[in-house]
Amino acid sequence: MPGELATATCRVCDGTVHEFLDLGRQPLSDAFREPDSDATEFFFRLAVGQCESCTMVQLTESVPREKMFHEEYPYHSSGSAVMREHFASTARRFLATELAVPDPFIVEMGCNDGVMLSTIQRAGVRHLGLEPSGRVAEVARAAGVRVRTAFFEDSTAAQVREAEGPAQVIFAANTMCHIPYPDSIFRGVDALLAPDGVFVFEDPYLGDLVAKTSFDQIYDEHFFLFSAHSVRAMAEHYGFELVDVERLPVHGGEIRYTLARAGRRTPSAAVAGLLAEEDARGLSGMATLRGFADSVMRVRDDLVELLRRLRTDGSRVVAYGATAKSATVTNFCDIGPELVSYVCDSTPAKQHRLTPGKHIPVRPPTAFRDPYPDYALLFAWNHADEIMANEQEFRRSGGRWISYVPNVRVL
Ligand SMILES: [Zn+2]
Repeated sequence: MPGELATATCRVCDGTVHEFLDLGRQPLSDAFREPDSDATEFFFRLAVGQCESCTMVQLTESVPREKMFHEEYPYHSSGSAVMREHFASTARRFLATELAVPDPFIVEMGCNDGVMLSTIQRAGVRHLGLEPSGRVAEVARAAGVRVRTAFFEDSTAAQVREAEGPAQVIFAANTMCHIPYPDSIFRGVDALLAPDGVFVFEDPYLGDLVAKTSFDQIYDEHFFLFSAHSVRAMAEHYGFELVDVERLPVHGGEIRYTLARAGRRTPSAAVAGLLAEEDARGLSGMATLRGFADSVMRVRDDLVELLRRLRTDGSRVVAYGATAKSATVTNFCDIGPELVSYVCDSTPAKQHRLTPGKHIPVRPPTAFRDPYPDYALLFAWNHADEIMANEQEFRRSGGRWISYVPNVRVL
């Protein structure tokens, strides 16, 4: 099979992208359907490759952005207490460092429900969020955050610069990796950023993905899977420099990258440290990525075997967290309602609908204890500590969690 894998053109440098993992035909990760819908589902081929020139790991096919980030986009960044605190502390740090200047200005691309900017707003600091998804932007607005319902791109950034002046900080959380047109983004950052400003973004880290075999981080919205090497190359390609990196324990392992205009700041020791660590692991090497692909196949085989065995035994198995990530798992592993009866999720917009592609019913969290199942497949594994603390009664009732990250096991 590896011999048949295709190539594509790098979205950063126009180099050749070699595919190393094909996750098959996938739906949009947030396309939850009404049970009686007969609408045709959109599918695309979800495959990942690496650029032989700049090392950027990326999808080889992209989904039009309007299909993903639209009025009904269901993900709310502030849905978890851990994430609320994460973004409040991010905002406090910006206030204490980058924004401690006269009349500071901060812009966030993809500000979602305003979870970070609401702390900035309460501090009385000038800010603007750009958020294309109408409903989450409305939530941010209701919290007093200034939001424009728009994609961040070169033209919108230039308009903001014209109207508001330069920004000391441009921030993006779980947004940069979504965008398959970095040329427009970087032109926009170049237009809007103050001469000594910083462009800070945080996204899932390829190093954690490989270490945990967390292939479910790969879905339509995650177009790029960044590493320190590939972000450094991307920054240089557009006239910027990677000046700091910080590991974050959220969303299964992320890195916060800080970019400045080339030559304006001295890179921190952490940058050299992470680059050396990636070299030692061979993270940018095709052999490592092909090894990751082999591990993904093993997780799929083990998970399907376990679920089939539990079905044969007559065990009741449900899933927890109708996450975007779970679309990749269910569709790649061919897991439907015959193996997992339903998925519990606290997002009202997903409840009483069917999961994308495999059509597993989604029920509210109250269904989880009515009565408790024998096994619960943990799709929201990145929130495992928070979920297990909230669901201790499930364990006391004899229930067991099933995890597939980094390997398939019953907890
Ligand atoms: Zn490239």
